Amino acid sequence: MTQVPGTDAEATDARTSPGPWLRARQQPHRRWLVLSAASTLVATLATIALAGLVAWAVHGTLFAPEAPYLPGILLAGLVLLALRYAAQALRDLAGHRLAFAVKQELRADLLRQARQAGPARLAGLTTAGAWAEQFQTRVEDLTGYYARYLPARQAVILTPLAILVAALWLDWLAALLLLFAAPLIPAFMAIVGMGAEQIHRRQQEEENRLAGHFLDRIRTLDWLRRARAIAATEAEVVERSHQQRRLTMRTLRVAFLSSAIMEFFSAVAIGMVAIYIGFALFGAIDYGPAGDITLFTGLFILLLAPEYFLPLRQFAQSYHDRAGALAAAETLAPALASPSGPVGPEHSPEATAAPDEGAVVPWLQLKGVTVHYPGQRTPTLAELDLAIHAGAHLALTGPSGSGKSTLLAVCAGFLTPTTGTVQRHPQARQFAWIDQDAHLFHGSLRDNLQLARRDTIADAEMATALQQAGLPLDAPELPDGLDTAIGEARRGLSGGQAQRVAVARALLSGHRLWLLDEPTSALDPDTEQALLDTLFRLAEARGLTLVIASHHAAIHERCLQRLDLAPATPGARHA
Ligand code: ADP
Ligand code: MG
Repeated sequence: MTQVPGTDAEATDARTSPGPWLRARQQPHRRWLVLSAASTLVATLATIALAGLVAWAVHGTLFAPEAPYLPGILLAGLVLLALRYAAQALRDLAGHRLAFAVKQELRADLLRQARQAGPARLAGLTTAGAWAEQFQTRVEDLTGYYARYLPARQAVILTPLAILVAALWLDWLAALLLLFAAPLIPAFMAIVGMGAEQIHRRQQEEENRLAGHFLDRIRTLDWLRRARAIAATEAEVVERSHQQRRLTMRTLRVAFLSSAIMEFFSAVAIGMVAIYIGFALFGAIDYGPAGDITLFTGLFILLLAPEYFLPLRQFAQSYHDRAGALAAAETLAPALASPSGPVGPEHSPEATAAPDEGAVVPWLQLKGVTVHYPGQRTPTLAELDLAIHAGAHLALTGPSGSGKSTLLAVCAGFLTPTTGTVQRHPQARQFAWIDQDAHLFHGSLRDNLQLARRDTIADAEMATALQQAGLPLDAPELPDGLDTAIGEARRGLSGGQAQRVAVARALLSGHRLWLLDEPTSALDPDTEQALLDTLFRLAEARGLTLVIASHHAAIHERCLQRLDLAPATPGARHA
């Protein structure tokens, strides 16, 4: 497959295909790779010097007329050994710092994306389980690649090369032997590795699925219990875990097999070098340099032979890290590359309108907004023009699927239109968001309200907001006032009361643009009317701008402005 440089296809490819993506992530932190290469080189040179020292000492002790000065040799050996281990430690450190830096940046990017995407996209794209899995486990899967694989890849070139040069200088026949033995190992590893990569990838996919599956079951535990589906779910979860275990064992088998192959071939290669040196020392080979081999040369090369193969073995082992990282990159890269809009970030013609003197600038001005989700035949929103002025109460109406939530997401900035522009008054940059299900987190009522703002909110202010939202603190459902524990299942609160907490939260946020997506669709008609009374009373009192997506007539009746998104001929629906 060839690609013309500079085409769009290539640009997307580089952004999402795992290999280039992994490389791109390490680019800003290249200095750690330089450090690890330098320390690898220092460690190798120290090792070579150490082998030379030992060979020289043995040779000198046996054959030299004057025995070498042992304490001096011992001291020099210790210094070289210390240097070698220090350099290796530095190399490990550099690798881990690189991995740390890359992961931290990646998590920040993921978080930023989640924040930009907002509820609309996140809910549509992925389950909470898959996202959490991505954020934690997938990112963690990159550790091996940066901390072990990349440094090992440097060592696999630098170390054998340096040793080869030393051997070549002493005995080119031995060097030749080493040279030919070296490719054996990567060749076999590649064969095993290819299979391993596939299995590894499948395992990760399965893990991802398992996590999402499990979390979804946990979240719906209440419903499952009511549906008497606990036993069946239990059996299903157990079966899935067994599947996962079998797959893990397969991955491990391949890993063990490949390291066995590795050990075998390096043992054979070292054996070959040893046989050559042995025969040469006996004088059985009189070809080339073999004739005048000495104990020094023989020992030197023999001591270096295992060191020569060591990086190859380490590289082969870290090959699994690479497989793991590639698999992780396959989910992470598209997740990060996926634009905050349905088509691409190339189109982000979003501007802040400069508040003109005199002219009334709408809070939100949509011009020619088209949203076309990939894979959909027709655009969800087509050439939509809309101006929302301060204080407006706008109902977005239309049947389910007509694009109400999509338009709301465009207004919020969660979604960038495929074409068209959204101009935003500075006052409309911040907004409160309420949807049909008030998310109440595990914690006290106070904790849940505090989410509205960064600065600490005083109890009195919370109490007022609750009062105005129609959930006074002396309500029987709030026995401990602000300290009442409300869980994820909004313990003790009815649906309507939970929505009132959401309204209080919106009030506390101080934002004057409120975007509401089906705020009452989970409520019965009486509760709905009561909540709407509260909502519109507050909107009047505070001059709020409301944009409400709903298919409930009760809401339509109360809004002065209506925009019907019912699928009709484009142009006909611009109210
Ligand atoms: P409504 O809120 O009026 O029910 P939506 O805005 O949720 O409508 O959806 C409008 C259309 O856009 C539907 O056909 C839906 O399938 C599609 N849609 C919504 N979100 C996405 C998405 N993230 N990816 C692809 N299609 C989507
Ligand atoms: Mg909707």
